[in-house]
Amino acid sequence: MLFDPFQRRINYLRISVTDRCNLRCRYCMPEEGIPTIPHEKILTYEEILRVVRIFVAEGISKIRLTGGEPLIRKGIVEFVANLSKIDGIKDLSLTTNGILLKDFARDLKRAGLNRVNISLDTLQKDRFYRITRRNGFERVWEGIQEAIHAHLSPIKINMVAIRGMNDDEIESFAQLTFRLPLTVRYIEYMPSGNGEEWKEGSILTVKEIKGRLERMAPLIPIASNSLDGPARRFHFEGALGEIGLIGPVSDHFCGNCNRLRLTPDGKIRTCLFSDEEIDVREYLRNGAGDEELRERLLEALKRKPEKHQINTRQFKKCQRNMSAIGG
Ligand code: SAM
Ligand code: SF4
Repeated sequence: MLFDPFQRRINYLRISVTDRCNLRCRYCMPEEGIPTIPHEKILTYEEILRVVRIFVAEGISKIRLTGGEPLIRKGIVEFVANLSKIDGIKDLSLTTNGILLKDFARDLKRAGLNRVNISLDTLQKDRFYRITRRNGFERVWEGIQEAIHAHLSPIKINMVAIRGMNDDEIESFAQLTFRLPLTVRYIEYMPSGNGEEWKEGSILTVKEIKGRLERMAPLIPIASNSLDGPARRFHFEGALGEIGLIGPVSDHFCGNCNRLRLTPDGKIRTCLFSDEEIDVREYLRNGAGDEELRERLLEALKRKPEKHQINTRQFKKCQRNMSAIGG
């Protein structure tokens, strides 16, 4: 088992397989995109598999693939198939914007993916274009249906709630849980990325969202399990799906943090909001043995901060965009 200096058990690795994306969400990226990492610096699938095998042998048991948009990287299904063969991975999941999910859902399931999180911030077609600067609402919606049919469950819909952007849709997202087996998760807007300027006043706090949901119907708490991460879970009486509330800004959940991140260019990141990075790519490419790579992992663990600094004077927006970390 892996523990950091604050006695947190670390068993979760989020892997960003690409920094490229087929959308341009306003809160994440500028219109023109961000400078991309050159191809030769991106870890090959074989390199990622090697890192994962070593990490899993040490105690990582949950893996999430993310990006950028993971489904635009060529060969992703075969990569999932190879990952799923690694003994010791108990939960293999993927976060996607859903644009290509309709084409991939069944193949991903067959390849061994357990579940998907789909990011969707609006249920309105025109607004989807305004937020993402691309068309595609119908495609994402079809992708969600396909994921349900493929049993990539529990299927979680991640909605970043931003005042003035989609705050009038809190209730319509919650309504979905009455008729579909989806977990709708509301996520506070975070100060990261190269998106439009972040203002504290734009955040809808989980407290505010919860208050709005409670005016719809009583929210019944659900005990958390090991797959929940930082979400607080609820459901409405008679609903097929669930509600999750994630408050990275207002609700300090760092005490339960169980994760590390691997960037597309082979850096281990110890926290979403810190620029501390431990390189593995050069080690992989310079013939390092498994023991040396294992030491990189232990080094990352040692350097994991106790908590993030948002809301404090020390906080600096991190240098890397969310799409190159894997939010
Ligand atoms: N492209 C994929 C997607 O959108 O699901 C995966 C990568 S994306 C960076 C992962 C998640 O980060 C998405 O759910 C997105 O909404 C979220 N995200 C990006 N920027 C954010 C911000 N400033 N605050 C909160 N969430 C953010
Ligand atoms: Fe792309 Fe995801 Fe960022 Fe939107 S949030 S621009 S889909 S990486």
